[in-house]
Amino acid sequence: MQLTLFSAGYCKQLEAISIRGGKWRSMAFPAIFGCIEHPYWGLILFDTGYSSHFFRASDAFPYRLYRWTTPVTYSEGQSALHQLKQRGYRAEDIRYIFLSHFHADHVGGLRDFPNARIICSAAAYESVAGLQGFAAVKKAFLPDLMPDDIKDRLTLLGPSALCSLPASLAPFTHGYDVMGDGSLLAIDLPGHAVGQLGLYMVDRHGAAYLLGADASWSARAIRESRLPHPIAFALFDSSAYKETFRKLEELHHNQPRLQMIFSHCHEAWERCRVEEEGRGVGIE
Ligand SMILES: [Zn+2]
Repeated sequence: MQLTLFSAGYCKQLEAISIRGGKWRSMAFPAIFGCIEHPYWGLILFDTGYSSHFFRASDAFPYRLYRWTTPVTYSEGQSALHQLKQRGYRAEDIRYIFLSHFHADHVGGLRDFPNARIICSAAAYESVAGLQGFAAVKKAFLPDLMPDDIKDRLTLLGPSALCSLPASLAPFTHGYDVMGDGSLLAIDLPGHAVGQLGLYMVDRHGAAYLLGADASWSARAIRESRLPHPIAFALFDSSAYKETFRKLEELHHNQPRLQMIFSHCHEAWERCRVEEEGRGVGIE
């Protein structure tokens, strides 16, 4: 397996919100997605980032509130679809999309991949399914981003699919064997959003990754044990977030070589830049 990271647009937010002790200055936060080239299952996306669909879906009130609160910078060349085409892939080549959660910066490109099976947690899907108007915006969910046939394409991971995780992933004990062959293990990372999932994988060189979505704003915050500013907890379930964060700190302590990739992390963004500038070849 090989993992390549991309960023599809970014939004602006105060650094101090994302990490305790950060500066009260506006900072860009990338919307990172991953492309996993799996030797058996083909191309699998981890989230999708923003796309032009995001702007259409947030045009009308009250959905426009989303754009006002998190101003997004995006150009068409940054869509997941465009960037994958640059690599020689077609939309139809994407066989699976693994969704960490349903916030618009993660599902923005879903409509561009009509053949992909969509894998997510049952709790995450149920928390947003059918939401419209203010109830949707409150959960950073834009209903128009959902493909019309999403119900036919969903694979929902729920409690009945839980399995034991390898001891090396302690303190996480249970997760989901996403493809049924042990190659991709999904882990519950609740707090930032209901039913948020992370994805653990080992690439063909033996490098281990945890794609941690929004369980932290950065890998640095985990290393330095710096939670977000308390203001951030007005937005989500603070006790679940802190518990997930604590477990990630413990996992990092136990497995310092495990690379934690968070969707809005600047270290991960730097890897995308290296990739885009052609100075590197993925994150091998
Ligand atoms: Zn996000």
